[in-house]
Amino acid sequence: AQAAREKSKTLADFMKEAADYYTAQLRATPKAVEYLRARAISGETAARFGLGYSPEGWHALEEVFKEKYSAPALLEAGLVNEKNGRRYDAFRDRLMFPILNPKGQVIGFGARTLKGDEQPKYLNSPETPIYHKGSELYGLFEGRDAVHEKGRAIVCEGYMDVIQLSQAGFPESVAALGTSITPEHVKRLFKLTDRVYFSFDGDGAGRKAARRALEAALPVLTDTQQACFVLLPPEHDPDSLIKAKGPEAYERELENALTLSAFMKKLLLEGKELMYAEERAKLVAEAKPWILSMQAAPVLRLALVKEIAAMARLQPEDVERQYGLASSPTP
Ligand code: ATP
Ligand code: MN
Ligand code: MN
Ligand code: MN
Repeated sequence: AQAAREKSKTLADFMKEAADYYTAQLRATPKAVEYLRARAISGETAARFGLGYSPEGWHALEEVFKEKYSAPALLEAGLVNEKNGRRYDAFRDRLMFPILNPKGQVIGFGARTLKGDEQPKYLNSPETPIYHKGSELYGLFEGRDAVHEKGRAIVCEGYMDVIQLSQAGFPESVAALGTSITPEHVKRLFKLTDRVYFSFDGDGAGRKAARRALEAALPVLTDTQQACFVLLPPEHDPDSLIKAKGPEAYERELENALTLSAFMKKLLLEGKELMYAEERAKLVAEAKPWILSMQAAPVLRLALVKEIAAMARLQPEDVERQYGLASSPTP
């Protein structure tokens, strides 16, 4: 009977039931409610994003769902783990962020510890038949209409950034899911809007993420689309900046964002002494893979080749020849 009942239930149904369970647990757990309050997240915002709480203890979720779902189903969903033949809840004492696909179905969870120093700070659901990290974006279902209305999307690093931004008047915000931004992510966003802001943490990890986002955007970007890079002060991410300085300060950061070409030039110039021919040659070599990957934006590519040539004190034709762009016309 259980198998028959399960057949009619999909993994997505189970994830939705789990999300509802976590939401109910949040309402019943004062310390979780207090955590959200301390992070300046309103009840309305928590409801908009379906936030929840996974209880302490090793079998809270398993006890509730084992009547309804078999052990393999619990394990497949990534909500229960197994070690040495013993099963236990994957998420315990964590704030739960349901991850929705474009249809609004729950396909996975992000989970933040409520303990100050517990590692890892965040856990993510494993990839499942319905959850693919390389293509899904957190907040996209909730923010899709806002992306259309505002004509822009903001891509940040974390769940809390998306939620805080949304609450502060930037509901067009999304995040990758504990992975780097992929060309697939960028493609998905440029289908919805022509302007995408990458707004990562100001620290070293965030700067590295911005460089990888540039590399993900280059093959996808066309001449009518714009990628911008928000470089926050080192001590801030979007969440902390808004809490410390307010939404207007964040809007100013968006206004001051670097264009893709400005950000690329900044990366190329970093740490170089252009009085030396060697360093100018290195600049041309470093830019090569980036320029060559820009297959969808031939005009921007041409403009950048000219700027790279100027920085290297070479003729644009010389650089084009070096890159193999001169002889074969661009596709
Ligand atoms: P908070 O503000 O709650 O402390 P954060 O979002 O600022 O969290 P970061 O350390 O900046 O946390 O990490 C950014 C994002 O990277 C997280 O939101 C999460 O999606 C992901 N992440 C961070 N640490 C891990 C981890 N150990 N495993 C998987 N993903 C992680
Ligand atoms: Mn960070
Ligand atoms: Mn952060
Ligand atoms: Mn943060």
